[in-house]
Amino acid sequence: MKHFDAIVIGTGQAGPSLAARFAAASKSVAIIERHKFGGTCVNTGCIPTKTLVASAYAAHLARRGVEFGFVVNGDVRVDMKRVKARKDEISGRSNKGVEEWLRGLENCTVIQGHARFESPHSVVVNDEVLEADKIFINVGGRATVPAFPGIHDVPFLTNSSMLDIDFLPEHLVIVGGSYIGLEFGQVYRRFGSEVTIVEMGPRLIGREDEDVSEAVREIVELEGIRVRLNAKCISLAKRDSGIAVRMECSEGSPEVVGTHVLLAVGRTPNTHDLGLERAGVATDEHGYIIVDDQLETDVPGIWALGDCNGHGGFTHTSYNDYEIVADNLLNADHRRVSDRIHTYALFTDPPLGRCGMTDAEIRKSGRAALVAKYPMSRVSRAYEKGETQGFMKIAVDAETKQILGAAILGIGGDEVVQILLDVMYAKAPYTVVQRAMHIHPTVAEYLPTVLSKLEPFA
Ligand SMILES: Cc1cc2nc3c(=O)[nH]c(=O)nc-3n(C[C@H](O)[C@H](O)[C@H](O)COP(=O)(O)OP(=O)(O)OC[C@H]3O[C@@H](n4cnc5c(N)ncnc54)[C@H](O)[C@@H]3O)c2cc1C
Repeated sequence: MKHFDAIVIGTGQAGPSLAARFAAASKSVAIIERHKFGGTCVNTGCIPTKTLVASAYAAHLARRGVEFGFVVNGDVRVDMKRVKARKDEISGRSNKGVEEWLRGLENCTVIQGHARFESPHSVVVNDEVLEADKIFINVGGRATVPAFPGIHDVPFLTNSSMLDIDFLPEHLVIVGGSYIGLEFGQVYRRFGSEVTIVEMGPRLIGREDEDVSEAVREIVELEGIRVRLNAKCISLAKRDSGIAVRMECSEGSPEVVGTHVLLAVGRTPNTHDLGLERAGVATDEHGYIIVDDQLETDVPGIWALGDCNGHGGFTHTSYNDYEIVADNLLNADHRRVSDRIHTYALFTDPPLGRCGMTDAEIRKSGRAALVAKYPMSRVSRAYEKGETQGFMKIAVDAETKQILGAAILGIGGDEVVQILLDVMYAKAPYTVVQRAMHIHPTVAEYLPTVLSKLEPFA
């Protein structure tokens, strides 16, 4: 049995930084990875998908060349082998970077293998028992494969296998109209595939406000993506011409036949094969590890960070988990999960940047609030660039004047929203943004204009 001060299971977005912080504090650390260093974001999530988004954007702009005054000789066609090679190179660089970084750390032992708890203070990996006073779980999640009838009779793709393909599916049917489905859908449409998105709910990205969902739907439909909403009783079946996604829908045909099917219906935490029961660590009904406000589980000395604790689902939430745990344990700084403000982006083009509450959540909270909405078509930077889709929406508390939430759907929305986010963290009134002088011509310079339109919620 080997003893360490700390064991980290998984090299996602929290584990490596945490291991490095402990190692730098002269603690002995073992970090265990069963598959690829860097986890989902690096290998099958953010980084590879954003390289595809970039390739798709370039192809899209090239097709619009004539609008900008240049001529492309012949069709703009995508060479999927090159697109994949670019993606592999960028993603591979990060994967290698994480591994080399960890292997180069003093006081840190890197182990490849599947870790399983043996007791609250020990794990087994490659038949070896490791023991530590503190154990950190950063095992992430995987694509959910729902029990649709026929699922095992047909081939299907997930976010992981989708990133291995180096050809263009003729007709990609995507089950799931949320963040992952929409990003892949727009990317493959721009690459040249026919794309149909089948969504079980009454609208795309159902967690957003209706106006946001509707605008995103318009954007993707304008590019030729077909959207099927309210799809109930989904099943899959083989057809001579491909794979059928069958559904009960209020409108449209009960079956869409595509050449390939991508499942994008959510994520499942990798907690079923960790031996958590031997450590006594509790999970909820979805398999998420239950943690307190400082990310400690119900077993003292065991923490869970990242997607497996159900408090995030993003790279930045996992990284923030690392900061919270490291600062609490090594700096006696009392940081809490409940202090963070919800924020994320949908990386379609244009992107959606979000922070804080939705309109629906604000209404439910019952507080007096004001809201302002402004179309991107009136933002000079947007029309100079010929990218005028979307709108900016900001809600504030009528009494405190603090910003409650924002949705910036439009060019630069993923960056601009963070100006508002920082003001929210500062707990400053929105008038700080309104009175600041911003750079011209940018999208951000319109934030004061948007805020000048604040009105009570209708
Ligand atoms: C297609 C897609 C696109 C995404 N895009 C974005 C985006 O643009 N922005 C964003 O913020 N987020 C995005 N995400 C989410 C983001 O990738 C994750 O939230 C992020 O990777 C955080 O994961 P994590 O730290 O919880 O663990 P992960 O990154 O999932 O890593 C967990 C690691 O633990 C290892 N592991 C699991 N079990 C064991 C075990 N028993 N023993 C040893 N090792 C184990 C796994 O092999 C894996 O390497 C995207 C996700 C997907 C799927």
